[in-house]
Amino acid sequence: MKWKSAASPTAFRADLHCHSTCSDGTYSPVELVAHAKAIGLSGLSITDHDTIDAYATALPAAREQGIVLGTGVEFSCMFKGWSIHLLGYDFSLDDPGIQALCQRHQVRRTHRNQAILDQLARAGMPIAEEELHRFGDKSMGRPHIAQVMVEKGYVKSIPEAFQLYLGDGKRAFVPGDAVSIPETIEIIHGAKGKVFLAHPHLINRNHLIQELLKFPFDGIECYYGRFLAAQEKRWLKLAKEKKLLVSGGSDFHGTVKAYQPLGASWVDESTFYAIFTHALVR
Ligand code: AMP
Ligand code: ZN
Ligand code: FE
Ligand code: FE
Repeated sequence: MKWKSAASPTAFRADLHCHSTCSDGTYSPVELVAHAKAIGLSGLSITDHDTIDAYATALPAAREQGIVLGTGVEFSCMFKGWSIHLLGYDFSLDDPGIQALCQRHQVRRTHRNQAILDQLARAGMPIAEEELHRFGDKSMGRPHIAQVMVEKGYVKSIPEAFQLYLGDGKRAFVPGDAVSIPETIEIIHGAKGKVFLAHPHLINRNHLIQELLKFPFDGIECYYGRFLAAQEKRWLKLAKEKKLLVSGGSDFHGTVKAYQPLGASWVDESTFYAIFTHALVR
């Protein structure tokens, strides 16, 4: 187990939760790998929202930089009206089931983004679909829409856009064609991967967590962002009780969420190799 206070600068540390420009991060996959190297991380998993595109360029970069790269993805699911994120690790990148699920999410996102823009137009904040085209071909969602809302002067900041309009249950929130948790877990398992419940502290109802953990999860994300050891304790205890694996990472998004730097949370070598048993690049 990891103790933040005992972190030696030379010890193995791996950040297992970060986003690249393939979804809503501001660092490209190659820049993420280089940044990981520069801050002394040994291992990394890039967990973009609903896409594994980062690996095409991250794999050769990791090989070159000597960073151990484990496959990762963060899938969006809906459960009882709540938006829940699942982290998939150690799956095969060439698995057709994983690739089809990513593709399905991209279709869902295109329709959902349009539905969100319709809601915003109704609320007197028009944004043309073309205004999202500049973000290019990526796993696009609410953070990109929020950025345009700020630029157009509809809101003062990205957090305000979520708080007033885009956040779960708010005026312009649209869930889209949700994918269920059991289906997502089955697909990740079918690709020889492991499934972790992401940032459980954001699910602020204990009974919901208990219900979620009845699904065949492999682990829980216990180390997160700038968590203090005291905040990690609850999740480490739960993982132990349920005999589940432990994961952790910063949820780094680059400059859009500068308060969560890469490496803010990490796992040690034994925790890393308990998760990653085959889909590794080194
Ligand atoms: P989406 O993938 O379109 O459902 O958007 C979810 C993403 O939006 C999350 O993974 C975060 O990166 C971002 N996000 C969610 N809530 C907020 C918030 N309150 N402020 C800023 N970003 C947020
Ligand atoms: Zn994100
Ligand atoms: Fe998330
Ligand atoms: Fe994330």
